[in-house]
Amino acid sequence: MIYADNAATTELDIDAFEAMRPFLLQQYGNASQPYSFGTESKKALRNARQIIARCIGADPEEIFFTSCGTESDNWAIKMGAILGKRIVTSVIEHHAILNSCATLEKQGIAVSYIPVDDVGEVLPGELEKVIGVDTSLVSVMFANNEIGTVQSVKELAAIAHQHGALFHTDAVQVVGHIDVNVHELDVDMLSASAHKFNGPKGIGFLYIKKGTEISAFIDGGSQEAGRRAGTENVASAVAMAVALEKNCANISANKKHLDELDDLLIKRLNESDLDYRRNGGRNHIPGNINLSFNGKEGEMILHRMDLKGICISTGSACDSVKIQTSHVIKAIGVPDEYAAGTIRISLGRDNTFEEVVAIADALVSILK
Ligand code: PLP
Repeated sequence: MIYADNAATTELDIDAFEAMRPFLLQQYGNASQPYSFGTESKKALRNARQIIARCIGADPEEIFFTSCGTESDNWAIKMGAILGKRIVTSVIEHHAILNSCATLEKQGIAVSYIPVDDVGEVLPGELEKVIGVDTSLVSVMFANNEIGTVQSVKELAAIAHQHGALFHTDAVQVVGHIDVNVHELDVDMLSASAHKFNGPKGIGFLYIKKGTEISAFIDGGSQEAGRRAGTENVASAVAMAVALEKNCANISANKKHLDELDDLLIKRLNESDLDYRRNGGRNHIPGNINLSFNGKEGEMILHRMDLKGICISTGSACDSVKIQTSHVIKAIGVPDEYAAGTIRISLGRDNTFEEVVAIADALVSILK
């Protein structure tokens, strides 16, 4: 099998796996219990929080463990709603944000959606047009999961602050892949998810800047400073820290490798006379390659690639009546004849040059 769907999930890092094992089998004490079997777990949790904070330039008390990126996004958006005013977000957010906003709209909270340009960028001028004194929260994703476009987060956060609003960014596709320093960017909240950076599934975190008025997301015990109750997932938090630290130490080497793989794939495709366009801007997450093939069907390509043992993703899905194009591909205005034939190849740190040649050759043979 060739795995080229790393934006969907990544392989668990072996060191992260080994780090979690003792907390599942031997050191399973509840981190909230005062006896030493519990305090050992508490220490491990504290250490994991410190490592994660260091990786994103935060302080440990600004890191709140959650179960995944979706939960972090839900928490951030619902915090904006509690402030009782309007939320501003973009049209290309992940459904964790868009559907949270849709639920709030049904409850009477106003939400405004900023358009993007043809490469998927939220232009600061568009935020300026929409934001007002009634805005409590602006949420714009750091990088898009389908087309990889990276946003000008620092600039957008500054505009939000000029208008007295909080700024949240969904950095699920970014943390562990691009350098992130929350204090330099001056964001108030940032979502991340371990399984996108070779950590385990079922754990993520929300960074919340010190001094932000935080409402609890899950009521219950006093875990996570009383804001997100539930017995702590120590093993997964420890593994998430190991995976993040390892990825963060290799960000530039991984980027260089992924950029070379990207160049090779595009070169091989360009040597064939396939009619395609690449979606997303020049500034995209390393390894994200989103392509639309004229007159083809993304789902057909996905299944034919699957038969050759290659995992990729699609930007459109067929139901029994018509082809459903993703909201992101629609938002950047990909013409219909190309939109239906959209696929996403997302390469990861462990993909090889041989695999990329095999992916390109498989695509060319299927599409011809
Ligand atoms: N946000 C973005 C941009 C994502 O790509 C994803 C997952 O694909 C999520 C949020 C949801 O993360 P999780 O799978 O950890 O719930």
